[in-house]
Amino acid sequence: MIKGIKGVKDILPEETPRWRFIEETARRWAARYGYQEIRIPIFEVTTLFARSIGATTDIVEKEMYTFADRDGTSLTLRPEGTAGTVRAFVEHNRAADPLPQKYFYLGPMFRHERPQAGRLRQFHQFGVEYFGTQDARADIEVMALLWRVLSDLALPDLTLEINSLGTPADRAAYVPILVSFLKSRAARLCANCQRRMETNPLRVLDCKIPECRAATEDAPHLTAHLSPQAKDHFDLVLGGLTALGIPYRLNPRLVRGLDYYCLTAFEITSSHLGAQNAVGAGGRYDGLVEVLGGPNTPAVGFAVGLERISLMLPDQTLPPSAPSVYVASFGSEGGPAGVLLLEQLRRAGVPAQSDYRANTLKAHLRQADRAHCLFAVLLGDDEAKRGSALVRNMKTKVQEDVPLSELPRFFLTAFQAL
Ligand code: ATP
Ligand code: MG
Repeated sequence: MIKGIKGVKDILPEETPRWRFIEETARRWAARYGYQEIRIPIFEVTTLFARSIGATTDIVEKEMYTFADRDGTSLTLRPEGTAGTVRAFVEHNRAADPLPQKYFYLGPMFRHERPQAGRLRQFHQFGVEYFGTQDARADIEVMALLWRVLSDLALPDLTLEINSLGTPADRAAYVPILVSFLKSRAARLCANCQRRMETNPLRVLDCKIPECRAATEDAPHLTAHLSPQAKDHFDLVLGGLTALGIPYRLNPRLVRGLDYYCLTAFEITSSHLGAQNAVGAGGRYDGLVEVLGGPNTPAVGFAVGLERISLMLPDQTLPPSAPSVYVASFGSEGGPAGVLLLEQLRRAGVPAQSDYRANTLKAHLRQADRAHCLFAVLLGDDEAKRGSALVRNMKTKVQEDVPLSELPRFFLTAFQAL
């Protein structure tokens, strides 16, 4: 037997309604907020991700699925959606069109990680990117959109954590202050953080190892070093969240390590997720479009993980599955009449099914129960001859005689009344 790849899951039919519900909720809110869907490729040239995500990030350092194309070009399965979206934005010269432009995407991402609950090698994200303004209301809008999606799904115990990374100049001024603090604690930091201290010191603050967290407990905060411009922006964002009734928690340790990330950085966490407690994250990346060769275009966005949403989604949130009818037909005349009826019901918009192997009433009714059908139509030779059938309510067991030609309307009406 050939097995699937570790950390790459099948989503079986019992689970797809859950997935569709999550995806439809995301699409519905994205449309309401005016975001249009973009479908970007699953793989891109490796340099796109190295440049966009940053060579010193976990993703680029150790998580990418990279392989050589036949001509030797290095390609990579997309580990996230922003890089491809920005590449498409630049490549198709979208900045020449009226701004702002608002995109969303949904789809699989690939990272070589140690598989565990909420952490897979192929996983799925919903993300949005708002291009074209530095206005704090755009930051508020993307956070509101994310908050509405997650609240609509009734995910428990959500916290929006937020921080400001300042302007690039603020960060440039802060980094030496942070580095000199980290040097004083170097002996207590993990090997990874000792290296990060040189390559990307902000990320030390993001380390999940308890010893590192303890060692950097009293690290100087970037928020204490914000320029008036960055502070104003942050205050506007926080004020906007409050005005919209979206609760937040300030988290001065929340960082994104790259130069083009600036101002707002946020993450949504839930205490229901255990170690992998982040549902989604986002922020402002005003420099990225330019880094990828486009004109200076401020942007803000987020990405959420659908597996983690699915783990948290309470079953009660799911809508009931669509009602359906079971056709139990028998005999030399009932059998063909049943095939015709199935087709007529389906064409009328009534989900209908049967089991062609069943040839006793008992076998048919067992299948009807198993498939959770609300009604069964009992159709034997006698019924076929007189042009009507017995409709059995599977719950109440009440049966009534209904002309075959009336059945589509009968069920449409019955389902409408549910
Ligand atoms: P983490 O700290 O959990 O590794 P991250 O910072 O790498 O998260 P992002 O790149 O910000 O995550 O991606 C946004 C969201 O995508 C995460 O909050 C999470 O829900 C989801 N996600 C990221 N990596 C994985 C993965 N390997 N498996 C499942 N979901 C993931
Ligand atoms: Mg990660």
